[in-house]
Amino acid sequence: MSSVMRNQDKESLLNIIFDLDDTLHDKSASLKTYAECLLNTALNNLDLSKQQFVSEFVAQNNIIQPKSHVFRTLAERFRFSPHLERELLIAFDSSFHEFSVPFDGALSTLSMLKNSGVSIGCITNGRDFFQRAKIRALGFDQYFDFTITSGGVGVKKPDARIFEMGLGNFSRSDKKVCFCGDSLSSDMAPAKTLGLITVWKTEDKNKPDYVDHCFSTFQEFDQLWQTTLVYA
Ligand SMILES: [Mg+2]
Repeated sequence: MSSVMRNQDKESLLNIIFDLDDTLHDKSASLKTYAECLLNTALNNLDLSKQQFVSEFVAQNNIIQPKSHVFRTLAERFRFSPHLERELLIAFDSSFHEFSVPFDGALSTLSMLKNSGVSIGCITNGRDFFQRAKIRALGFDQYFDFTITSGGVGVKKPDARIFEMGLGNFSRSDKKVCFCGDSLSSDMAPAKTLGLITVWKTEDKNKPDYVDHCFSTFQEFDQLWQTTLVYA
C-alpha cells in the first residue's frame, strides 16, 4: 500500500513570499492603459504623438526614480506647462491603482495556494500608500497574510533585513519558504543568500545557479507547484 498522501490530505510544507510589480501585477499593461486614458482626458487638447507618449510614459515609470522626476522628464519632452505637470503627478498618485491589472492567472494561483494551506506574504519596493492601494485594487489583499513595503519599513530589497522581516511574519518557522519575483538582483540573489527556494518569473530560459525554478505564466507556475514545489 502506498504511504504517499495526496496533496490535499496534508498541510503544505511550504510558505511563499511574492514580489508585486512585474511578478503578480502586470505593471507595463497598467501603465499603458493609464497613459492611453491620459491621452483621452487631461492631454486630449495637446498636439503630441500618442504612440511616443505611451512608450515614453511606460519607459519612464519603469525606471527606478521618484515619480516627480518621471513627470518632470515627460513635461520637458512633451512641453507640458508646470501646472499640467503638477496635476499629472497628483492624479497619478491618487488614481493609478484603479488601472492596475494582474497577470493572467495570478488571482487563481493565489487562491489555489491559499486553499492548499500555504501562507502568502508580499515584499515590495515602493511607497507604502501606493503599493497598498494597488494590492487592494488588484484583489490580492484577501490572500496575503502580510505585506511589507520598503516605504513602510525604510529598507528596500535587496537589503537582507526586509527579507528577514518577512520571514519573521510567518507563524510557522519550520516550513520552507519560496521567494517568487522577477528581479535577479533584488529578489532572487538575496533570497538565495538567506536560504530560500528561489522562483523566478521570466521569459529567459538561461537561469543563474542561484535560481531554483523559473516560469513565465501562472499556468506554468501552477504546474511547477503541483509537480515539483509541493515536494520541495
Ligand atoms: Mg518586481
